[in-house]
Amino acid sequence: MKKIQMVDLKGQYEKIKSEIDSSIINVIESTAYINGPEVHGFQKELEDYLGVKNVIPCANGTDALQIAMMGLGLEQGDEVITVDFTFAATVEVIALLKLTPVLIDVEKDTFNMDLDALKKAITPKTKAIVPVHLFGQCANMEEILKIAKEHNLYVIEDTAQAIGADYTFSDGTVKKAGTMGHVGTTSFFPSKNLGCYGDGGAIFTNDDDLANTIRGMVNHGMYRRYYHDVVGVNSRLDSIQAAILRIKLPLLDGFCDARRSAAEFYSNALANHPNIATPVISDFSTHVFHQYTLQIVNADRDALHKHLLDNNIPNAIYYPVPLHSQKAYEDERYNEDDFKVTNKLIGTVLSLPMHTEFDEEQLAFITKTILDFLK
Ligand SMILES: *Cc1c(COP(=O)(O)O)cnc(C)c1O
Repeated sequence: MKKIQMVDLKGQYEKIKSEIDSSIINVIESTAYINGPEVHGFQKELEDYLGVKNVIPCANGTDALQIAMMGLGLEQGDEVITVDFTFAATVEVIALLKLTPVLIDVEKDTFNMDLDALKKAITPKTKAIVPVHLFGQCANMEEILKIAKEHNLYVIEDTAQAIGADYTFSDGTVKKAGTMGHVGTTSFFPSKNLGCYGDGGAIFTNDDDLANTIRGMVNHGMYRRYYHDVVGVNSRLDSIQAAILRIKLPLLDGFCDARRSAAEFYSNALANHPNIATPVISDFSTHVFHQYTLQIVNADRDALHKHLLDNNIPNAIYYPVPLHSQKAYEDERYNEDDFKVTNKLIGTVLSLPMHTEFDEEQLAFITKTILDFLK
């Protein structure tokens, strides 16, 4: 059996090696290393794929979130609501910009933003909501957008884990993850569903004015060369990464399908076990399985984690510490009673290997090892 990897980037690369290698060489020979035609080409192709008017490429997914918040004109003291159960980047940029993070709990089945907690957290100082489409499935955007509209709040979708997911509204309209709120952000970190071979990110918006503001902000606040109208940052997607992404973007739907079929194998094998809750798929969103995350209930999750490692099956706990308990983000405003679900999830979640290159023998070995252990 092939060695099992948490994310098999090498196996994926080998299938597209000749196109990738020649596209990289082309960029090197062109010397258009920054903001070259590859970046512009990728931008247009991603706009088409997402069905969004504007894509602004940038250096990584964390910058994308920060620049989105700068572009919306959020200011010191503004409250920004996001989830307690996510990667720290989301809350990090809120804090860096001296905005006030307001962390809220998630739903126990989907791991996404809890709507009651959201309603409860809104105050007159609230300016924005940042739903994170965690593990590859959209949060309940229809309700979040409704709540945002009622309270006149911006919605920034953190789509780092869910690029390619489709959301269906109750009137039948289908939109891509990241294109429903005022602005969406994503990451092209190598292990993300659409990953480059270094760092990369992008911001999406249908608002042309906001797009224009953001385009200058990613480039030192310049709207005209050497005229700096606002304080900006230097955050660019480089041409080599864009060239790689142009090859991988047409493959994204196939990558999502491959992830979904691995997830289906896992769920079929592990369903109906009393100690295992397999991922729940909402009826309004497709799932692109950035992670395949089980909840291990009434059994020793940590012992299973170690048993799998001992059997050369990589697996991970995303996330082991709630953000409100992290040293950097602790705050006396928070009350443990408000984080019942997250506090529980950190002790039950277990993410299995997930990528585009499995063979069935590997998946069968993984599920058998889990079932044998929990017997
Ligand atoms: C990966 C990730 C980010 C940050 O992306 P980088 O490109 O690593 O900066 C932000 N939010 C979430 C939910 C992520 O998973």
